[in-house]
Amino acid sequence: MFDIVIIGAGMAGAVLAERFAAHGKKVLVIERRQHVAGNCYDELDDNGILIHKYGPHLFHTDDAQIWEYLSRFTDWHVYHHRVKAFIDGKPVPIPFNLNTLQEVLPRSLANKLEDALLENYEYGKKISILELKQSSNKDLQFLADFVYEKIFLHYTEKQWGLTPDKISGAVTARVPVLIGRDDRYFYDRFQAVPKRGYNVLVKNLIDHKNIKLLLNTDFHDVMELRGEKIYLFRRKFKGRLIYTGQLDELFDKKFGKLPYRSVDMKFETIATEKFQSAPVVNYPNNYDFTRITEFKQIHPAATPCTTILREYPQEYVMGRNEPYYPIFTEDAVAMYKKYADELANFQNITAVGRLAEYRYYDIDDVVRRALDVFNDLND
Ligand SMILES: Cc1cc2nc3c(=O)[nH]c(=O)nc-3n(C[C@H](O)[C@H](O)[C@H](O)COP(=O)(O)OP(=O)(O)OC[C@H]3O[C@@H](n4cnc5c(N)ncnc54)[C@H](O)[C@@H]3O)c2cc1C
Repeated sequence: MFDIVIIGAGMAGAVLAERFAAHGKKVLVIERRQHVAGNCYDELDDNGILIHKYGPHLFHTDDAQIWEYLSRFTDWHVYHHRVKAFIDGKPVPIPFNLNTLQEVLPRSLANKLEDALLENYEYGKKISILELKQSSNKDLQFLADFVYEKIFLHYTEKQWGLTPDKISGAVTARVPVLIGRDDRYFYDRFQAVPKRGYNVLVKNLIDHKNIKLLLNTDFHDVMELRGEKIYLFRRKFKGRLIYTGQLDELFDKKFGKLPYRSVDMKFETIATEKFQSAPVVNYPNNYDFTRITEFKQIHPAATPCTTILREYPQEYVMGRNEPYYPIFTEDAVAMYKKYADELANFQNITAVGRLAEYRYYDIDDVVRRALDVFNDLND
């Protein structure tokens, strides 16, 4: 009855469902949560403020094709994201730039450092703190240490639950300093959030007569892998299975559990019109949470109160919280490879998306990946 079965109604599953349905295929989408949109899911809270249930999601891309494709299913609220970090008792712009410099250091030192940066690097360029550290200029070396300590080190410790010695030098090397005053978090050509939210965008994607959606349904409730065959509702399924869930779950964790980091998302409504000076404020030092998001600053709402989200990173425990970020240890990468090799035995299963491919994808990356997979399969 169905040509294509898709596990997961997140962005990857929804784009593939839309593409196959538009090309005349009958598609069944199976989603274990009680809503679509995966981790992009948003909803109006009791105060009429659009909140992102799984953490703030800001859409940004340089890919005009993706922008145009998604624009068929949503209008946009143009939104350029800004983030501050709470440093030495006050919120200052990040990524660290010339404005940050002036806000966190005494004027004479800030001016001296700004002159040194402008003498050594091109205006508008992003440089890494590793590059600064390797400079022969002592002041620039000081700046590299300052940014590392105040913005990066403790945030990373909290986010990943690591001690400083376990934090990889390769990651440190990428911490940027912007030689400029552009306070935006992203520099992509297209930046926005869906006007009525991601949930509506995804509903529009899968609103097609050829698509049937089953919510509150786990893959294992209706499908089974036996030998190298797939069974759907106990009957052999000869179509294509697109899987966007965790690959270790598909194979009953036979090679072990892929490690993830999770986050406890704590929402709070506060009786004030505006809570903080930027949509997101990071708390690298002190406190147990990593950041606070104020949703009204992303989706404007005329309300006398405001809703904020504090994020507390924590260990991922299956069934208790959500697998947000893959932890790329050598063992984990090797374990994922075993699952990927196992998957290769199934000619008609394709793994797509952040869980199934065990990698961090932004929304535009996952839409690009879904469109590319569709083009390959539809050849
Ligand atoms: C905290 C956080 C913040 C982020 N912020 C941004 C941002 O600002 N900008 C940006 O571009 N990207 C952001 N991302 C990335 C973004 O969330 C992903 O790119 C996107 O959600 C990936 O879509 P997906 O379909 O691959 O996965 P998901 O959204 O996880 O969807 C997979 C779906 O499959 C379902 N599923 C899994 N297993 C089964 C099963 N066995 N049976 C049935 N259903 C199943 C799940 O319930 C889920 O709904 C963020 C990610 C996180 C974790």
